[in-house]
Parts: sequence; structure tokens; C-alpha cells
Amino acid sequence: MVLREDQILRYSRQILLRDVGGRGQEALLAGTARVDATGASGMTAAAYLAGGGTPVVGTGSLPLGPWAPGFLVSADDVGRPAVEALDAAVPQLNPDAAGAGRGGGLVAELPSGWSGEAPWVALGGDGMRAAVVFRGADGCVWCFGETVRHLVQPPDGALGVALGALGALVFQRLRLGLGPALGGRWLVAPGVVEELEVRKCARCAAASPEPARP
Ligand SMILES: [Zn+2]
Repeated sequence: MVLREDQILRYSRQILLRDVGGRGQEALLAGTARVDATGASGMTAAAYLAGGGTPVVGTGSLPLGPWAPGFLVSADDVGRPAVEALDAAVPQLNPDAAGAGRGGGLVAELPSGWSGEAPWVALGGDGMRAAVVFRGADGCVWCFGETVRHLVQPPDGALGVALGALGALVFQRLRLGLGPALGGRWLVAPGVVEELEVRKCARCAAASPEPARP
């Protein structure tokens, strides 16, 4: 895939980033993200992904919730199936991001089922803080599952919007092959990020036991 002139103009700010470049932008345009979401965080992630050139397709059958309207969908879309609203709104935001194919990567608000290709990006929380948990192709599926199992649905409002922006960034980094294959971050407030410790599955825990604490 070679970038067209209009694409070079559209994505010039990203292409100038050392971690992205022309090749990276081509990779972002080539890989679809499935988005399973009905709220502020998932719709924001979808908007940032689509704006950055990643093709976005909706998945799941639930209707959009009252916090979904924002960058991507309007108040008129509340109650409409999320898949339908996304498939209508994404091409308007960026024609390059109109869902092509159904493969590649999943961004989902918790609780959600997880399957298919990496990257996987979970948007959740603990009732106070927002949380993003992510897994690249080399990350353990079971550790990811063990970690997201202890989280609840993501917050709405400003913290949810900030979480969605962070989730899109994490997805793009994984797609570009950057960053650890498995990890998580708490978002305590918009812009305030803390490390989220990934839980180990039984197999990984047996393979690398925690060092004894003094
Ligand atoms: Zn594991």
C-alpha cells in the first residue's frame, strides 16, 4: 500500500512522528479495528482510530447509551444499534476508515468477550478510576483475561472520553509494533496515568514466580 497525496496531507502530523512515519501510517490504514462499545470511551476510541486512518467496524448488537454522543455520534443516535451508528458515522469522519474486511484487532468496553486477532484493548474501570488493559500478538491471552475479569465497565463523562483517547493511542502503538505485548494503565483523572499491574494466569505464575518480598 502506498499513500496517496491526499492521505499524506491528511495524516501529515502523524507521519512526522518518529514512531509512525510513512510506513507506520500505511500499517495503520491497512489494519481494521473491531469496536464493541456503547458508551463515551468506546465511541471516543473509535473516533480517534478512524481519524488516524485505522478502518473501524462495529461489532456487538447493543444500542448506544446516553453517554455515547461526542466526536463521532450525535444525540439522535442514542438507542440505535452501535454497529449501525458506527458504520454510518465512521465514513463521514474519514472515508479511509470505512470498514474494509472484518479482521484484525478489537477495542471493547468491558464486560466483553475476547476473540480474534490482536491487538486487544479493553476499556474498563474499578468504579473510581478508568482502566485500559492491552495485549499484542505476543501477549498471554489468559493473563489478559485474568486481568480484565476483575474490572467493571468504564466510566462515562470526561474520564470516559479521556480513556477512549488513551485506548486508541495504545491500539495504534500495538499495531505499529511498539510497547510491551501485555500491560495496563489506570487513568485516575484525565491526563493522570498510573501503572496497572497485570494479573498472571496460573501457567505464567508457575513459569515465573514472584520474587519473595522481604
Ligand atoms: Zn499468562
